[in-house]
Amino acid sequence: MNYHVLTLFPEMIENGMNTSITGRAIAKGLLSLEAVNIRDFAFNKHQKVDDYPYGGGAGMLMQAEPVYLSYESIVNRIGRKPRVIFLTPQGKTFNQDMAKEFALEEDLVFLCGHYEGIDERVLEEIVTDYVSIGDYVLTGGELPAMVMMDSISRMVPGVLNNQESGETESFSGNLLEYPQYSRPEEWHGKKVPEVLLSGHHANVDKWRREQSIIRTAKWRPDLLKKADLTNKEWNEIRR
Ligand code: SAM
Repeated sequence: MNYHVLTLFPEMIENGMNTSITGRAIAKGLLSLEAVNIRDFAFNKHQKVDDYPYGGGAGMLMQAEPVYLSYESIVNRIGRKPRVIFLTPQGKTFNQDMAKEFALEEDLVFLCGHYEGIDERVLEEIVTDYVSIGDYVLTGGELPAMVMMDSISRMVPGVLNNQESGETESFSGNLLEYPQYSRPEEWHGKKVPEVLLSGHHANVDKWRREQSIIRTAKWRPDLLKKADLTNKEWNEIRR
């Protein structure tokens, strides 16, 4: 997976991504990351990339040309037109299924807006996907791009080792993950559920499945509607 990020703040992307699990995957060559500074494509004295919006209104807008040229530099380098994700609060809300789908791509370009956003004309020419990370407004697209890259990277084979495996995590099968406990067996008077100490794997699996269903029903009933449950499990919920 090759990530290309068009940004005014490349150091933010580089520092964030070269840390922890994604940093390890970059070092191993499972992921590659380039943060392209849009300012390098502003051919004016002060490397200015923003201007006032036509029609007035608050704030500045990123201009079309530097964004286009920075995108073109990637296309010229890789020799084809990759998918371009524009991070915007107006886009489709990001989720685990989208992460899985994006993980199948060889190259992904993330376009990070700032100020009031980006001139619509360049978006029309280069963007293939408009994605939001939630119904709130941030100051820039860098954090959303990193949220997406982090979650997509977890789907890239080899990025997670066995211990970090994502197979039973929340959202697999539209269920939230079961509660988990580590040592000591008792803390603040609270004991680890007996079944987890039993060493009986079938009973542990059964308990975890039940807990996942109970937790999803309580916290995310919207997900439960899409979950893959047996008739017996549905009947138990309805009781
Ligand atoms: N004026 C824009 C609007 O109302 O849609 C918001 C601009 S916001 C202050 C600046 C940039 O932050 C956006 O261009 C986008 O790249 C990024 N951004 C802000 N909130 C976001 C969100 N929830 N998801 C993805 N990107 C976001």
